Amino acid sequence: MARGTVRPAKDLCSDCGLCDSRWVAYVRQACAFIHQQFESLERKAHGRSRDLDNEDELYFGVSERMFCAQLQQPLEGAQWTGIVSTLGVRALEQNLVDAVLCVQQSPDDRFTPMPVLARTPQEVLAARVNKPTLSNNLSVLEQLPGSGIKRLLAIGVGCQTQALRAVQDSLGLEELYVLGMPCVDNVSREGLQTFLESTSRSPETVVHYEFMQDFRIHFRHSDGSTETVPFFGLDTPKLKDVFAPSCLSCFDYVNACADLVVGYMGAPFQWQWLVVRNQRGQKLLDLVEAELKTQPVMSSGQRAQAVQQGIDAYDKALRLPRWLAEVVGVVVQRVGPKGLEYARFSIDSHFTRNATWLRRHHPEKLAQHLPAFAQKIVSRYRLPQPSAKRSMPHIIPTKAASKTLFVIDMVWNGGTTIETEALAWSDTPDPANEFACKLWGQQWGFEHGLDPAPTMRTTPGEVPVRSIASASTHCAEAHSPLAERPQCVQAHALARAACSGAHTHSKC
Ligand SMILES: Cc1cc2nc3c(=O)[nH]c(=O)nc-3n(C[C@H](O)[C@H](O)[C@H](O)COP(=O)(O)OP(=O)(O)OC[C@H]3O[C@@H](n4cnc5c(N)ncnc54)[C@H](O)[C@@H]3O)c2cc1C
Ligand code: SF4
Ligand code: SF4
Repeated sequence: MARGTVRPAKDLCSDCGLCDSRWVAYVRQACAFIHQQFESLERKAHGRSRDLDNEDELYFGVSERMFCAQLQQPLEGAQWTGIVSTLGVRALEQNLVDAVLCVQQSPDDRFTPMPVLARTPQEVLAARVNKPTLSNNLSVLEQLPGSGIKRLLAIGVGCQTQALRAVQDSLGLEELYVLGMPCVDNVSREGLQTFLESTSRSPETVVHYEFMQDFRIHFRHSDGSTETVPFFGLDTPKLKDVFAPSCLSCFDYVNACADLVVGYMGAPFQWQWLVVRNQRGQKLLDLVEAELKTQPVMSSGQRAQAVQQGIDAYDKALRLPRWLAEVVGVVVQRVGPKGLEYARFSIDSHFTRNATWLRRHHPEKLAQHLPAFAQKIVSRYRLPQPSAKRSMPHIIPTKAASKTLFVIDMVWNGGTTIETEALAWSDTPDPANEFACKLWGQQWGFEHGLDPAPTMRTTPGEVPVRSIASASTHCAEAHSPLAERPQCVQAHALARAACSGAHTHSKC
């Protein structure tokens, strides 16, 4: 099959590679962007889904152990100290697996990924260091049949892990181990070029970079020199569109379905961060634990205010002058969040940005695509007001198994101005639907979208829209107050027409 010919997720495709293999047959159930199913995949991988009332699990997923580590003998040329590559090497040397799915680089370009099924330690070592672009890892599944590979270690990022988990029972493997890395803000190869050109003093010589816990991007150049740039000095207006749409709609930052996760975001500067999710993850860790220097996770600082300020600044696409970015960077580095609080800062910032992006670009997907853990995190913040782009009501019905959710996307402009990006309701209470209401309720100024009697702040001329909560469960209640207003008549008629097609209600 020619690469890239089938992509049912369309613009949201992260090029995970599943569709370049015969397992494309499972794409509708397996693709992370068509079918969001964290709860069942977590259960499949770990025997249970995360406990949303436990703050650590809410943020970092199911875990048995979490700690910080460095290889005592760092691996030359690795992204950090090389725990991931060393683990892949040991898995082959100690005959735990027959092959390791990892990502080498194209012979022509350091940043173009080339996934392989490595059969020797040398092939695993050749895959060390990040290729910071979308990689179609799962395309190499096509090589499995007839290869003799029965036990596989797959190294990859969250969207790849989700699709892999969804098809794992059909791969004909006896053992599958998944070593995951956290991942966020990935880009296409062209997007990477824009990023490097707008950020580094010498884009053509960059061989390695990482967003680090000191709130700076660290670049390494081919002559061995280093360069650091404060996050706060990034050219936000230019970079707003650089990240791949898949990554702007992704909530799998911490690779929820991997057995073992190796990243850096929850560790102090220059340390790696490990999350053992289950016993298979511990078995992987056993391969290298004796070679590690370790320390417990730590957490300090307060992220919430910084996250909220970041949401507002990002929305306005503010760019600080370099000198000010440096000053802010130094201050934040000194007093800002560290360790697990840094990881939570980063998760909050990315989830709120991605929920906003999804609401603007794919409103019909928001309720289904936002997992419960992300809903809970995002609802702690005030998201940007929707922009007044449209003047005609526009109804997008979406159906999920247990509900009918209508998103009415509209802006009224006239005598009184009410700007409403969406109204959602269904005939059965549903957490995803309730969240949609809560999110939009916030934008309308409701303090608590699910409160039975929410306080309401309206624009001058007050429009008596009633409780979003009742809108979510009693469609008639949602209609009647809307119908009382002349400027709402048209929207009401459309809503009623759509509603009555979906379910029967005495007032519809
Ligand atoms: C695209 C990307 C984004 C990341 N973002 C974060 C982040 O935001 N926060 C965080 O804590 N950690 C992130 N990580 C993980 C982190 O940067 C390190 O990769 C991880 O800590 C392992 O370091 P190491 O020295 O042990 O890896 P190494 O020993 O150098 O091994 C790196 C491994 O990465 C694999 N790899 C390389 N490129 C890709 C790719 N494009 N897709 C899938 N696999 C690849 C290779 O197969 C190799 O096995 C990201 C990783 C990638 C690939
Ligand atoms: S993300 Fe993967 S499974 Fe989904 S459309 Fe793209 S290649 Fe196919
Ligand atoms: S940010 Fe998400 S969608 Fe993008 S490459 Fe990483 S895991 Fe995949």
